Amino acid sequence: MSTASPTHATLAVIGGGPAGLMAAEAAAAAGILVDLYEQKASVGRKFLLAGKGGLNLTHGEPRPDFDRRYGASGEWVTGWLDGFDAGAVREWARGLGVETFVGSSGRVFPGDLKAAPLLRAWVRRLRESGVRFHVQHRWLGWDDDGALRFDSPHGAIAVRAAATVLALGGGSWPQLGSDGAWQELLGGRGVALAPLAPSNCGFDVAWSPHFATRHAGAPLKPVIAHWRDAAGAGHALQGECVVTATGIEGSLVYALSAELRDAIARHGTTTLHLDLAPGRSLERLQHELASARGTRSISEHLRRKAGIDGVKSALLHEALGHPLPADPERLARTLKRLPLRLLRARPLAEAISSAGGVRVEALDAGLMLKPKAHLGPGIYCAGEMLDWEAPTGGYLLTACLASGRRAGSAAAAWLKARAPAAQPA
Ligand SMILES: Cc1cc2nc3c(=O)[nH]c(=O)nc-3n(C[C@H](O)[C@H](O)[C@H](O)COP(=O)(O)OP(=O)(O)OC[C@H]3O[C@@H](n4cnc5c(N)ncnc54)[C@H](O)[C@@H]3O)c2cc1C
Repeated sequence: MSTASPTHATLAVIGGGPAGLMAAEAAAAAGILVDLYEQKASVGRKFLLAGKGGLNLTHGEPRPDFDRRYGASGEWVTGWLDGFDAGAVREWARGLGVETFVGSSGRVFPGDLKAAPLLRAWVRRLRESGVRFHVQHRWLGWDDDGALRFDSPHGAIAVRAAATVLALGGGSWPQLGSDGAWQELLGGRGVALAPLAPSNCGFDVAWSPHFATRHAGAPLKPVIAHWRDAAGAGHALQGECVVTATGIEGSLVYALSAELRDAIARHGTTTLHLDLAPGRSLERLQHELASARGTRSISEHLRRKAGIDGVKSALLHEALGHPLPADPERLARTLKRLPLRLLRARPLAEAISSAGGVRVEALDAGLMLKPKAHLGPGIYCAGEMLDWEAPTGGYLLTACLASGRRAGSAAAAWLKARAPAAQPA
């Protein structure tokens, strides 16, 4: 591969996910010439995948409750949301011809629950605003002169950009493009990074082979999860999850995944307790199970008296062994607090999103990397590659869009301040 002489661009946005597209939009709206580079043959692949679940764009919950979903990073993310919040996300979608609605859980979706029409309209509008797309361009880092290096269908090319927004995603679903390879490129230049870790992920449980074979895919709903946080305080949350061949996943588990993952990191494993009979008190269960059983098996007794059968009954067997003890108090207590020992989070590649990434202290308020000996000014970061995490519910896309907006606007302002005369009118 030969290296062509550098071409010139004003702002290079690298990564065609929601964060990069929004950065391009913000900069183009400020009159900046934008070149967007994407390693895949098309942009927005993960965004399209999110569309398979209905594309939960944002959440109707008011601020500041909304901001609290970002946990320890709440203060950081608040700064981006001040410029582009859930209401702005909905307005933006409307501007692209897509009306949204608030579902019963407060989650906000496009009316047709699809991502493709929104993405198509967005890319069309970006092209119309002058953004130039360069797909199949994989960014490889910088050359010795500070030019951006790409592997492209035309071989290796170098691009000298006046400013750059990196919006390279996290490390989940790497087959869609966000493979986390940037960690080495930025880490090697002294940028402070928190290692990428799975977020909104499933967990492994040592099921018996019999249970795994028979019940993988079985939903558990509704159940109440009970767990303790790092300070030892108890919490409970009702929701739904799914048994998998290796453990457990689903929205309830995703919502707790950051705490569970961190507890495993601290203690090696952690135990989640599930209430398999949320509609019945412990006393009621004990009373019902203590009633005369006659010649019925315990499993049949559980089904008739407490509505426990199928996967819930099998979980009881996993916890208490075969045959089940006849002691109604023990059965009832286990049903109300079934212990699930979580061994490890599922791998990052399978997770919905990533925790970790470029640390807050590596960036200024406009998301520009603080210049270093081997890293000049004018390099911005946005989206999931930043060190924040949030549960599902539309909080992920909202923060990606908001940070992209922040980085794109800040890059545009920085470029204008440096070379006001050189910008297009
Ligand atoms: C199954 C699934 C469902 C989801 N559903 C939802 C949902 O309903 N609601 C929600 O809020 N969130 C959802 N998410 C999360 C959401 O999709 C992501 O948080 C979001 O896409 C991240 O945006 P991003 O722009 O930061 O990164 P990405 O969307 O990952 O985009 C990064 C882009 O950078 C490109 N890239 C990476 N490295 C290079 C390189 N070296 N050179 C050139 N290009 C490169 C990649 O190819 C990719 O196109 C879902 C995620 C998954 C996996």
